[in-house]
Amino acid sequence: MITRLSRLFLRTLRDDPADAEVPSHKLLVRAGYVRRVAPGVYSWLPLGLRVLRAVERVVREEMDAIGAQEISLPALLPREPYETTNRWTEYGDTLFRLRDRKGGDYLLGPTHEELFALTVKGEYSSYKDLPVTLYQIQTKYRDEARPRAGILRGREFTMKDSYSFDLDDDGLKASYDAHREAYQRIFARLGVKYVIVAATAGAMGGSASEEFLAESPIGEDTYVCCVESGYAANVEAVITPAPAPLPIEGQPAAVIHDTADTPTIATLVDWANAAGIAEQFGRPVTAADTLKNVIVKLRHPGGKHEILGIGLPGDREVDTKRLGASVEPAEVELLTEADFAENPFLVKGYIGPKALLANGVRYLVDPRVVTGTSWITGADEPGKHVVGLVAGRDFTPDGTIEAAEVRDGDPSPDGRGPLVSARGIEIGHIFQLGNKYTNAFDVDVLGENGKPVRLTMGSYGVGVSRMVAVIAEQQHDEKGLRWPAEVAPFDVHVVIANKDDSAREGGEQVAAQLDTAGLEVVLDDRKASPGVKFKDSELIGVPLIVVVGRGWAEGKVEIRDRFTGESTEVPAESVVESVLARVRGGR
Ligand code: ATP
Ligand code: MG
Repeated sequence: MITRLSRLFLRTLRDDPADAEVPSHKLLVRAGYVRRVAPGVYSWLPLGLRVLRAVERVVREEMDAIGAQEISLPALLPREPYETTNRWTEYGDTLFRLRDRKGGDYLLGPTHEELFALTVKGEYSSYKDLPVTLYQIQTKYRDEARPRAGILRGREFTMKDSYSFDLDDDGLKASYDAHREAYQRIFARLGVKYVIVAATAGAMGGSASEEFLAESPIGEDTYVCCVESGYAANVEAVITPAPAPLPIEGQPAAVIHDTADTPTIATLVDWANAAGIAEQFGRPVTAADTLKNVIVKLRHPGGKHEILGIGLPGDREVDTKRLGASVEPAEVELLTEADFAENPFLVKGYIGPKALLANGVRYLVDPRVVTGTSWITGADEPGKHVVGLVAGRDFTPDGTIEAAEVRDGDPSPDGRGPLVSARGIEIGHIFQLGNKYTNAFDVDVLGENGKPVRLTMGSYGVGVSRMVAVIAEQQHDEKGLRWPAEVAPFDVHVVIANKDDSAREGGEQVAAQLDTAGLEVVLDDRKASPGVKFKDSELIGVPLIVVVGRGWAEGKVEIRDRFTGESTEVPAESVVESVLARVRGGR
C-alpha cells in the first residue's frame, strides 16, 4: 500500500515547540510524530506510531529468540501486592494511585515484578516447569518529578519488561546473560551507540545489575569509564578506593583556633595559610585538608525523619544522585530553619564531627576519611575551627557513604588508571533480583527431591518509547530526522517535484513499482512547491528520497540518501533496482 502525503494525517510545523529544549523533542514534534497532551503524556501520530511499532518489532524478535514468552498484564493494578512488598509506600510520589467506586486502592503499574511473581506462582508448581522467562511490551505510569524532552522521560511510556524465573543461581546467571546478549543485538539493530555500565555498588566483576546507556550529551546519567581497563560504571555505582590507614601515633594533638569570618571552605583555607598552619604542614593548606560536614534530612519510607551528617574532603561537593542512591529507599530533604532551631548544636558554617556524634546524629564519612587522616574542621562554635582532628583518635564515624562527586582523573576502582566521565540516556536495565519478590510471595515449586524450592528472579527493562527519542537524538542533523532503515517509518519517500502532468504520472508510476517490489512507500503527491516538499522530506527523515521532477521527461530520476546527503541520477527504468540495492545494503 502506498501512503499518500495528500491524505496522511500529518501537519509538519515550521517552528520549534516553545517547551522543547533538546533536538529530538523539537524534531519529533515539528515533523508530526508526536503531540503533547499533558506534561510527560504524548499522543503518537501515524509517523511516530510506525517508528514505535518498528522498535517494538525488533525488541519482540530478539526476546522471542531467547525463548522469552510474551504475555500482557494490566496497567491498572490493585494495591495489595505492592503493599506486600512495601512498594506502595516506597515508590513515594512517583506512583500514580487511584481509588475505585467502592473505595478500593489501585495504582497504575510503574513496573511489574509483583504481578509477574504472582502470575508464575499461580500457574507453576514443579521444578520441571522451570526455567521460564515472560515479557510484555506495555504502558507504564510514573509520576516523574521532572518529565523531560517529550517522550524521552514521560509519565506514560512504553516499556518492554521481562522477568526470568530459575531454580538456582546458575540458572539466573544464564537468564541474565541471555538478556544481556539479546539487548546487545537489539541496540545494534537499532543503530544506537551505547555503553554497558555497572549499575549498583558492589557490582564490579559480579555484575548483579547493569545499565545500557545511549551516549548523548543531553543524557541525565553520568557514567565514568577507565580507558586502560574498560571498567565502566554509572556514577552512582562507583566505589571510592579507600587509601590505607595512617599511623595515629606521633600526630600532634588537635588544637582549636579562633577563625572569625570563615564560614566557607575557601575562607577557611585562606585563614589557615595566613595563620601559619601551612608552615606547620610544611606545604600550603588546600581545601582537601579540610573536612566539610554536610547535614541533610532523610525521609524514610513511612515518613520518619532522620538528621544525617556527612563528612567529606572540603575540595569535593556532595553529588545529589550518588547520595540519593546511597540512602535509598530514604529520600533526601534539606534542613529547614526550624530544624536548626531545634538542634542548636548545629552551628552553621562551623559544624564538626564531635557535636554530631555527641548528639546522636548518625555521621558517615567519605571513604577517603580513613583512620589516621588529620583534618581541619568545624569546632561546633561560631568562629572556631579545629586543626589536627584525627579520624580514629578524636572522632569515630558511624561508617562510610558514597556521596562525594566523582571527578575526571580519580583513580578507577580497579586500580588500573584514571576515570573519565561522559553522559548517557538509560535505554535498558538488567537486574539479578534474586529472592526479593519470590520471598515476598512465597513463590516455590516442588523440587526434584520432593522439597520446595524458592525461585530466583531477574528483571529486565528496555525503554521502547524512549528509544524513539534516543534514536532521533543520536541520528538527526540540522535539517531534520534521519532514521536508520530498521525503524524508519517508510523505506522510501517519493517526491513529485514538478507540476506538469508527466512528472505527476511518473511519480505515481515509480511509487507503484517500488510498492510492488515490496517496499514501504510514502508518496508526496501534494499540491505544494518542490521546496516545501524537499524540506518536509528532510524533516521526516526517511532514509531514501526519490525525486521525480524535471528530469523525468529525459527518463531520469534522482535518488537522495538522507544519511550521507549524496544524490545520484539514475535512469527511470532502473529506479527500483537502485533503490532495492540501497535498501538491502543499508540493512
Ligand atoms: P531512569 O533512571 O531514566 O529514570 P529507571 O532506572 O527508572 O530509568 P527502570 O525502572 O530500570 O528505569 O526502567 C527500565 C527502562 O524504562 C529504563 O532503562 C528506561 O529506558 C525506561 N524508562 C524508565 N523511566 C522512563 C520514563 N519516565 N519515560 C520513558 N522511559 C522510561
Ligand atoms: Mg526512573
